[in-house]
Amino acid sequence: MKTKLSQKHFKEAKQYLVGGVNSPVRAFGAVGGTPLFIKKAKEAILIDEDGNSLIDFVCSWGPLILGHCHPAVVRAIQNTAQLGTSFGAPTQAETVFAKEIQKAFPSMEKIRLVSSGTEATQSAIRLARGATQREIIVKFEGCYHGHSDALLVKAGSGGATFGIPTSQGISQALAQYTFVLPYNDTNAVERLFQSRGKQIAAIILEPIAANMGVILPKKEFLQTIRKCCDKYQTVLIFDEVISGFRVSYGGAQSSYQIRPDLTCLGKIIGGGLPIGAYGGASDLMKHISPEGPVYQAGTLSGNPLAVSAGLATLKELSKKSSYQELSEKTKYFCTKLENAVLKLKAPVQLNWVTGMFTLFFSKNSITDFKSANQSDTQAYAKFFHFLLEKGIYFPPSQFEACMISLAHTQKQLDTALKHITDYLKHEFK
Ligand code: PLP
Repeated sequence: MKTKLSQKHFKEAKQYLVGGVNSPVRAFGAVGGTPLFIKKAKEAILIDEDGNSLIDFVCSWGPLILGHCHPAVVRAIQNTAQLGTSFGAPTQAETVFAKEIQKAFPSMEKIRLVSSGTEATQSAIRLARGATQREIIVKFEGCYHGHSDALLVKAGSGGATFGIPTSQGISQALAQYTFVLPYNDTNAVERLFQSRGKQIAAIILEPIAANMGVILPKKEFLQTIRKCCDKYQTVLIFDEVISGFRVSYGGAQSSYQIRPDLTCLGKIIGGGLPIGAYGGASDLMKHISPEGPVYQAGTLSGNPLAVSAGLATLKELSKKSSYQELSEKTKYFCTKLENAVLKLKAPVQLNWVTGMFTLFFSKNSITDFKSANQSDTQAYAKFFHFLLEKGIYFPPSQFEACMISLAHTQKQLDTALKHITDYLKHEFK
């Protein structure tokens, strides 16, 4: 594989951009080597600066469920750009867009558009604190909700702990109000609510986790969280920035039939342009300014280009066949892979749900951060580079989800399957 130009560009980028990138995972730190600089893409294929062609299983970390350069999305952006790119005043398209989101997520009775997933979760937390007049928030180990201070906090070992920041620069005074519990640990949730329930403003989680690799929730775990929130009037926030419009049109809340109080969206709803949204019960959302005292604003919120790309994407997704097709593609790929793993008795685990999957290099099943963290990251790095050489672009980290889009063809999926199976055969025969 040629990487001469990517290496040259990376070297130059490092002189001007921190670490040569604008988001850390892009630097290939977890797998080593030089990140590929991408020139262009179409459907499920990326072309890098050296002319390598790669089947893309990252899909911009989730937004591109229709694949790159979907004609309807490109057309929408082009048409909108000719009318103006930002007005700082309301547009009719924002209402049409909010209506579409609400059709898929009926729990989002009122919606606020923002510019990223981070902004959505940060604002939802502020709203929950403002509305309940409480301080404590609860999150789960391994769930990522963007990089706002209160949420960039990880557990210490075992049970509920006062938050220990994952990053420097986060005030301990703030972090102490973030409690972290193990994902899928129903008892830990019950225990914490019994002792502190009346002080908990919000509990936030990825109802299907995708930031420690894909991990499915136990239904009883979600149900217990809902029950505890009802009992103690705590705000339940579902962060569906990844799962929203991916696992089904109505996200994980529709798959698991649990209605959160607030939902955060991002990624897919922008069709590849920067966007985020949060929303929930009208009674709760009325605390947000200008209706209420919880302040939140944004110069580019509801940006016309992002809204038009999002609307075009949701329109495609609302076609009846879309999720059936995505589900069939994922099932085809993942069951074949599962069978290969079983046949080889390879020490790897495949977790998957419609539209995404993770292959963990571990002999134990992966149900939470602790088990995910026992995966062999060096084995993943080797696997990653093998696939890259074969023209298959997997996420440069064991703890990210591989995305399947509607643009992936059966031939591309078969090619990826062949190389993955060859690799496993070679490594674990
Ligand atoms: N929430 C989840 C579940 C995410 O996966 C991400 C980003 O990956 C975010 C929030 C933050 O979104 P953004 O990167 O748009 O700020």
